[in-house]
Amino acid sequence: MLELVLDPSSSPREVASLVRTDPGLALEVLRRRQPNERKRRFALHLNDALASLDAAGLRELALRLPIRGRFELLDAAQGQACSLLSRKHAVACACAAAAFARESHYAEPETAYTAGLLSSIGSLALWQFGERELLDLLARAGRRSIDMLKGEERDVFGFDHELLATTIANAWTLPYELHDTLGALHLPAQDLERLALDGVDVHLASLVRAGFHAAHEAGFPLHESFDAGAPPADVVRLFDSVDLASVLEHVRESESRAALLARPRARTHAEAFPIMMAAREELQNRLLEKEHLLRAGDSVFHVLQYSFERLGEGDPLPGVMLRAMERMDFRRITCLEFDARAGRIDVRSSYAVAGEARTPEGRWAPCTAERASFERAARIDRESHEPLHQLALDLCDVHSAVIAPLRELDPQRRLILVADRGRAGRAPVPGEEDALGTIADQAGLLVKFHRMERENAALATQDPLTGAATRRRLMERLEFLASQSQRTGLPFSLLIMDLDHFKRFNDTMGHQTGDELLQDLVRILQANVSKGDLVARYGGEEFVVLLPNCTIERSLELGETLRALVHDHGTSRLERYHGLQISISMGAAQWRSGESVAALIGRADAALYEAKHAGRNQVLRAA
Ligand code: GH3
Ligand code: MG
Ligand code: MG
Repeated sequence: MLELVLDPSSSPREVASLVRTDPGLALEVLRRRQPNERKRRFALHLNDALASLDAAGLRELALRLPIRGRFELLDAAQGQACSLLSRKHAVACACAAAAFARESHYAEPETAYTAGLLSSIGSLALWQFGERELLDLLARAGRRSIDMLKGEERDVFGFDHELLATTIANAWTLPYELHDTLGALHLPAQDLERLALDGVDVHLASLVRAGFHAAHEAGFPLHESFDAGAPPADVVRLFDSVDLASVLEHVRESESRAALLARPRARTHAEAFPIMMAAREELQNRLLEKEHLLRAGDSVFHVLQYSFERLGEGDPLPGVMLRAMERMDFRRITCLEFDARAGRIDVRSSYAVAGEARTPEGRWAPCTAERASFERAARIDRESHEPLHQLALDLCDVHSAVIAPLRELDPQRRLILVADRGRAGRAPVPGEEDALGTIADQAGLLVKFHRMERENAALATQDPLTGAATRRRLMERLEFLASQSQRTGLPFSLLIMDLDHFKRFNDTMGHQTGDELLQDLVRILQANVSKGDLVARYGGEEFVVLLPNCTIERSLELGETLRALVHDHGTSRLERYHGLQISISMGAAQWRSGESVAALIGRADAALYEAKHAGRNQVLRAA
């Protein structure tokens, strides 16, 4: 692969796509180029390669830089090598930035640490693949300011370490706080203050700038011939406002702890490998944690915006779940339903990224535990003593997860989101539960809105007492059938029916029993018509059965069957109904070509009226 990449005839795009499979390869490629060739083609390939790397690839690249390579295998005394110095300075700067953050009560010292570490990406990358040239450059340059150094770097490499850092940061989807900070690190103090107006976290940038200078003061120069220069005004202010001695002491302590991890005392690769892996993991974890947290905050906004935009377009929950999973970088998200009355938890739905198995829907577990531990969003793991937490982990078959309840929809049934990073994946970081909690809370409202909307829609089409279609739905369907039959010539018919002496029934048995009888009637009708037929409540105790693709003869037959069934039902309940016999009268009509819907109903209604007069409990054909 390396040979292919080094082949001058391969295009930058091909190189980029190959490099994507191994981020470390980018540097290997550049290192192997001849110096004169490098100068000419370097920028083109590097930009292309870096820009095409995805976030994971670049993170990998940045974290491998300070740790891999031969210098880490050398003793510190021997290793006057620049990349080692750069790395130590980077770690010291990160530690100092975090210490400053703590001393000056900045809310997120961990962000300051990450920003401090990232601030050196450019220099680290430059050392890694241009070490010989950089050493030459520094030897020639003597003590130089940062701006002069950058000028020299541009001459030799075609760009400088800051531009390199910006390129990496641009290609890498850094959280915007860190991105802005990187961009602002080397600005003059007055420019930095102006950036505050644009919402850039100037305090964070100042912390990292102070970290940079404190690392120098604590004895971690980038290189002996490199001059950090006088600290800018914002840094001097920070120095004045905190106990610098304690910060410096903290930096030395933290750096030596980091050095233990990052500088193996091993002499062979076999010994060094596990130590390097541990160091890499440590750095990677810190960065990932921070990124997850920053992402989490960001995702709340995105997920909710997405859901509100789609309000009224069906069930919002799947969209919310998928978005939350993607934005917060989870591998899977599951919705559990805890039914306190039935004493069980069910897996309602689950989504997973490609390659990860979903939690099987329909999986369930009996559960008698108190629901209290599902009331709040939380990070949960196997150490937890809450039985509900353990059940949730069992159902999803993971070791750790974030759970968050949807805002209460039904006091007996709680919906709970469970987000995880798979069996082998990383545990959630503090703060992620708050983000998922907010999302779930709002998702509860969205689901509630969706249900109300569905109920409203049902109200317009479904009679709440009997479940029959409403008159409005009937009329719509009739209009549709009439126009369809006009085109196709297919017949359709309808039956219109009315309970006999229902007023008397109501008066004797009470209104509530009357209501029940209406429900019984609809049940009988619905159970005995075909799937495409429509049972509708036309008025108080008047119903219509609409029969597509049906002639008058067949509708009379069906009407007769229904009449008999209702009569039988009445007979079986004679005693209960104090001897009152239940029956219905009916009119049947088939639509005639060109006939209006109102005329069709009018004919059927006239037949019904006739049936009443002819003694009730019968079906008559419309004229
Ligand atoms: P007929 O055989 O001529 O149809 O006699 P009837 O008593 O059924 O006819 P009428 O139209 O005089 O009475 C209809 C009754 O239906 C009056 C009304 O109280 C009752 N009714 C209408 N809607 C409902 C309802 O939703 N629930 C109940 N329980 N009764 C209803
Ligand atoms: Mg009536
Ligand atoms: Mg009646």
